[in-house]
Amino acid sequence: MPTQSNISNLDTLQFDNRFVRELPGDPEPDNYRRQVYQACYSLVRPKTVKQPRLLAYSAEMAQQLGISSEACESEDFCQVFAGNRLAEGMQAYASCYGGHQFGHWAGQLGDGRAINLGEVVDHRNQHWTLQLKGAGPTPYSRSADGLAVLRSSIREFLCSEAMHHLGVPTTRALSVILTGEQVVRDMFYDGNPQLEPGAVVCRVAPSFTRFGNFQLFTARDDLDSLKTLVEFTIRADFPHLGEPSKAVYLQWFEEVCRLTAQMIAHWQRVGFVHGVMNTDNMSILGLTIDYGPYGWLENYDPNWTPNTTDAQGRRYRFGNQPKIAYWNLVQLANALYPLIQKAEPLQQALNVYTSTFEQTWRSMMADKLGLLAFDPVNDEALVADLASLLQASETDMTLFYRGLADIAMDSIEADFYSLLEGTSYGSVNSETQQLAGLWFKSYKARLQRDNRPQPERIQAMNAANPLYVLRNYLAQQAIDLAEQEDYSMVRELLEVLRHPYTQQAGKERFAEKRPDWAKQRAGCSMLSCSS
Ligand code: AMP
Ligand code: MG
Repeated sequence: MPTQSNISNLDTLQFDNRFVRELPGDPEPDNYRRQVYQACYSLVRPKTVKQPRLLAYSAEMAQQLGISSEACESEDFCQVFAGNRLAEGMQAYASCYGGHQFGHWAGQLGDGRAINLGEVVDHRNQHWTLQLKGAGPTPYSRSADGLAVLRSSIREFLCSEAMHHLGVPTTRALSVILTGEQVVRDMFYDGNPQLEPGAVVCRVAPSFTRFGNFQLFTARDDLDSLKTLVEFTIRADFPHLGEPSKAVYLQWFEEVCRLTAQMIAHWQRVGFVHGVMNTDNMSILGLTIDYGPYGWLENYDPNWTPNTTDAQGRRYRFGNQPKIAYWNLVQLANALYPLIQKAEPLQQALNVYTSTFEQTWRSMMADKLGLLAFDPVNDEALVADLASLLQASETDMTLFYRGLADIAMDSIEADFYSLLEGTSYGSVNSETQQLAGLWFKSYKARLQRDNRPQPERIQAMNAANPLYVLRNYLAQQAIDLAEQEDYSMVRELLEVLRHPYTQQAGKERFAEKRPDWAKQRAGCSMLSCSS
């Protein structure tokens, strides 16, 4: 087994490619767009690119994989993670899946621009699938080009690592590499295509399997492949459940429900809006996956979504994410039904989603408010009233919660008003002030009931309420600079977001309210799916 970070030659990474070895593959060797049946993947080579150049890499991810920093800065790293060279042991493939998009069954989707390189085994014997996003067309590319542009690659790279450091379950990112080639994108879908710099992100996760991988087999009545994939997933990713059987399938589905509930509770805690919670974007491991038109709540608004494609129905708005995750799990339950043939135990597992979400969310809200524990009798109203107040006062969610730690049992109403005013984007009118006064009184009474020492409470709150999140406009500023070949802000954000709960000297500008100019600017408050 390799020891930590001693790999200087990528050809000595240790691969164990279970997905390719144990699952049925597509026999067709040629890379053209098509429907692929009775197969979990198609072998496909990444497209070679002209002039790959490393923009940034994640030191923690590299360390996890055992890759030394010298190796990360080498020319070979750039060639390999741009897709120009397969290192020893890599087997490149695109996986086949389907999904419900915006509530409608979409049939086969698949890795249209993601190409997996294989599974690295780290020094703890953990498998990590490496996946290049934007590495060229695959059989699943449909009408698109298989490529990714710099702006969306920076967003995916930074947010994956930021979420990891926030303690939110997520796929990771090892690197972001410029291809040296241009990609055509019509960013606003308004008939004005532009050339943009291309890039490739190397994503990393124990598995990239999605709800849609299972759904597609059931939709095609291919129950043999369905069973094979379920059993493979249990053995590879849920080995603690034991040898697959009907009972274990159910335990596994229940665990998927539990993991999904925990992930969503984290999203709600940090104010993350995924933007495209289609079932092909739901990880079987309960990881946040596919960072597209995602965004972070600025003014607290449960109806907000950053995704312009969803502006009408707002299906994937912040406040709807818990319900949508349930809906998506119901689709997964439907896909697994033929293997189980009983609705009742599947429904019971779905109930575990609801109870886990409720429980996790309550304990997170208690942490956010600095309470010893969530009191179901009184705290429900406390939390709901605060949500109404934050919405009415258009208050920055991140800054408000962070500042709330400074409110103490002996604080006066004026302290609370100034917190609210300082973190609000609007003007706090008299009606809102009244709400604020009432809420402050009940919160103070609640703190007095707990009678928790202030330093302990501050510490607990600061561990639940991040100071630094990847604010939409900050990501956009970093992108604007990167498009001018200045990568300093991408690197600085990567660094700051490594410690989101710790106040960092000189980094005040990363923990400020959104400036006015950013309110309506594309990329800052709204994003299209074009990426
Ligand atoms: P998304 O909702 O962005 O995760 O993507 C939905 C589907 O479209 C997936 O199958 C993607 O692989 C595919 N896709 C998105 N962008 C591209 C692209 N530029 N080229 C090929 N396939 C793409
Ligand atoms: Mg996707």
